Amino acid sequence: MQHTIAVFKVTMKSLPYFCRGAVVRGFGRGSKELGIPTANFPESVVDNLPSDMKTGIYYGWACVGNSDVHRMVMSIGWNPFYKNTKKSMETHIIHKYKEDFYGETLSIAILGYIRPETSFNSLDALIKAIHNDIEEARKQLDLPEHQKFKDDDFFKTSKKEIMNGH
Ligand code: ADP
Ligand code: MG
Repeated sequence: MQHTIAVFKVTMKSLPYFCRGAVVRGFGRGSKELGIPTANFPESVVDNLPSDMKTGIYYGWACVGNSDVHRMVMSIGWNPFYKNTKKSMETHIIHKYKEDFYGETLSIAILGYIRPETSFNSLDALIKAIHNDIEEARKQLDLPEHQKFKDDDFFKTSKKEIMNGH
């Protein structure tokens, strides 16, 4: 078991990576209907991603506007709108929101990598994989070394300023 985990244990020099930006409309792929809504970042945030941050699924912390910090899983993938030449960043916050938050500032701390992008044979397999990712994110984020970022000053500073970096 431990062996399997080691295979995906990737270290990236850019992690942890902090960024924020206004939530924009995504591709309308119906993620919400699957119970897994993903908040999309605008191109300006995606274009600033360090080049060593490869596509795949990550975990970390997220905060909408000035509200509470919650666990998240995020996918960095290829953007179909740009014929897969540009990346996209989609964050699923592990929290039930009463309303959508398009246009609000989303701040995230990306801490670790879970797995590469995969294509799935069925919608069921995809949903199952995402639930596994959520489970893995919960486990990882409970560790003290990850928990401490929940209280990072990044989540307390003025949300008006858009910034990228770490
Ligand atoms: P889109 O294609 O526009 O991204 P989605 O079906 O992926 O549509 O839904 C994403 C939107 O759902 C987000 O932009 C946000 O406003 C809202 N939302 C509600 N709850 C969550 C959540 N827990 N995580 C992410 N987004 C959420
Ligand atoms: Mg989305």
